[in-house]
Amino acid sequence: MQRQALRWRRAGRRVVFVPTMGALHEGHLSLMRRARTLAGPRGMVVASVFVNPLQFNNARDLSVYPRPLAHDRRLCRDAGVDVFFAPAAGSMRAADAGTWVEEMTVSRSMEGVVRPGHFRGVTTVVLQLFNLVQPSIAIFGAKDFQQAAIIQRMVRDLSIPVRIVVAPTIREADGLAMSSRNVHLTPVQRGQATALWQAMGEARVALRGGVCVAGRKLDALRRRLVRRMESHPDVRVEYVEFFDEHTLEPVRQIQRGARTRMAVAAWVGQTRLIDNARL
Ligand code: AMP
Repeated sequence: MQRQALRWRRAGRRVVFVPTMGALHEGHLSLMRRARTLAGPRGMVVASVFVNPLQFNNARDLSVYPRPLAHDRRLCRDAGVDVFFAPAAGSMRAADAGTWVEEMTVSRSMEGVVRPGHFRGVTTVVLQLFNLVQPSIAIFGAKDFQQAAIIQRMVRDLSIPVRIVVAPTIREADGLAMSSRNVHLTPVQRGQATALWQAMGEARVALRGGVCVAGRKLDALRRRLVRRMESHPDVRVEYVEFFDEHTLEPVRQIQRGARTRMAVAAWVGQTRLIDNARL
C-alpha cells in the first residue's frame, strides 16, 4: 500500500482516504462519495476496512463486530472507491510493538472516560494508516465527533500533512444514527434505539427561547432526558454531556450562539450506541 501511495504522490496524484472498520452502511458511503468529489478525476480514493483490536476495550464487542468483507468491497466499488485496503488482522502490528500515539486533552471527557485506552488505540492506528496510505485529505464522520476532534488535534500537534474533513451524520428515517452496531439490535430494541435522537430533539426544544440555561436547570434537563430514554425497558444511559465544540470540555451553561453540542451514550440491550448533535 505504501509503495503504491508513494508512487502516486511522485506522479502528483492526490489521495483522499476514508478509514473504516467495515460493515459499511450509508454513513460510510456518504464519506466515500465525498472523497470521490474531493479527489477529482485524477485523484485516488482509498477506503480501508480494518477492525482495529487496539481500540476495543471489550473483548465481546471485538469478537461479535460484523465483518462482511466481500459485500463491503462491492459497496466501495459502487461508491467510486479506487483502492479497497483491508489489511489482515495480524498484519498491522508486530507482536512486540511498543509505540503508541496518545492525545491527552480532548480525549479526557466522554468516551475517553468510559472507554479507557480506546482513543489511543484509534490515534495509533490512524497515524499508521496515514503513513501507509499517504493521503492529502482524510474524511471522518461527525457521528464520532470526539474521535474526529482528537484526530484533528493529533494532525495539528504532530504537523501531519493531512487535511481532515468532517462529514455530517447520516441517519435512518426515524433519526437513529447509522452504525455498524445497529445490526445487533432486535426489532424491539431497534424501536427503542430512537430514544437517543429523541432526547437530542427534546433538549433542543427545551433550550429554544432560553437565552442562557445554566447550573441546576441544566442538571434538571439532563436528568429529564435520562429518565425519558430509560423509560424504554432496554435502554440504559451511560452519559449525557453538554460540551463545547472546540475544547470538548463539558459546559455548565448553554448560551445562545455558543457552539455547544450534546452527546449521549447508551446501552440498548447488549449494544452500546453513541450519538451527538449541535444544540
Ligand atoms: P467506523 O467504521 O464505525 O469506525 O466508522 C468509520 C467512519 O465512518 C468514521 O469516521 C465514522 O465517524 C464514520 N461514520 C460512522 N457512522 C456514520 C454515520 N451514520 N454518518 C456519517 N459518518 C459515519
